[in-house]
Amino acid sequence: MRDNSVPKIRHPEKANRPDNAQPKKPSWIRVKAPTSEGYKKTRDIMRENRLVTVCEEAGCPNVGECWSQGHATMMIMGEVCTRACTFCNIATGKPPESLDAFEPGRVAVAVKKLGLNHVVITSVDRDDVEDGGAEHFAQTIRAVRRQSPDTTIEILTPDFIRCAPAALETVVAAKPDVFNHNLETVPGLYPEVRPGARYFHSLRLLQRVKELDPAMFTKSGIMVGLGEDRQSVLQVMDDMRAADIDFLTIGQYLQPTPKHHRVDRFVTPDEFAGYEKAAYGKGFLMVSATPLTRSSYHAGDDFAQLRSARLKKLAKR
Ligand code: SF4
Repeated sequence: MRDNSVPKIRHPEKANRPDNAQPKKPSWIRVKAPTSEGYKKTRDIMRENRLVTVCEEAGCPNVGECWSQGHATMMIMGEVCTRACTFCNIATGKPPESLDAFEPGRVAVAVKKLGLNHVVITSVDRDDVEDGGAEHFAQTIRAVRRQSPDTTIEILTPDFIRCAPAALETVVAAKPDVFNHNLETVPGLYPEVRPGARYFHSLRLLQRVKELDPAMFTKSGIMVGLGEDRQSVLQVMDDMRAADIDFLTIGQYLQPTPKHHRVDRFVTPDEFAGYEKAAYGKGFLMVSATPLTRSSYHAGDDFAQLRSARLKKLAKR
């Protein structure tokens, strides 16, 4: 049994790493402290329903803005992740509990109370569960649909790398509106940034989603400022288009603690604008590339634009 008098270390695998200095953020990264009434209401609904959010667990800089509008990204399957990505602030370890069969229902209640038009649901990696949590994702999608049939659903999933192909098929069969899985970085940085994952596996996962359901929107994102060069980012865009991914997000990596991967540099707003232009040129239906872009940032508005971009493209044929 764990000795509760000993403080639990959030990132035991990172504890012995040397510290990386955290550089001062430039003016274009600053955000306001969360204080609004809307923020408090969202926080209360999350607490009442015992829900975990990636907004808090990842220390997202947009939490004040998103929560003031009721936009929280729920993180299912617990708050401990079986991976140890060097950029991520989610606690790493062996998850203490099995999956909570009542969680899909609680997510559905919270979505209804928040009155969301569009919800983003993500999860920790659960390599300890045989299907990686695929059935739990499917149950959550179905529970939200039952209670809020008009709410569009976006999921941001793990890579299901150790699972049978049926795991992905289970999630796609539950028909989320948007299937998002982040590549996170360029392939050359995978060993140091995302050591438990494989670039081409993640890419293939998204391509497979499109093969299984060509009408489903697919989305993926990367962080910049980790040490990649522009050419590699452009190559990732080409790889994503070859996998028929519709929506690309690019945001600045921010270092959660000195034990995390270092910030190599702050990419300027002009460079982000250049990435956005290049990505549209490569055929993405929708692109969000700004310093504060996160997968779920403005996801509802972006989904409306994504849908209308597809309709316009179809009308031109
Ligand atoms: S950008 Fe996403 S993770 Fe960050 S606060 Fe908004 S909804 Fe939460």
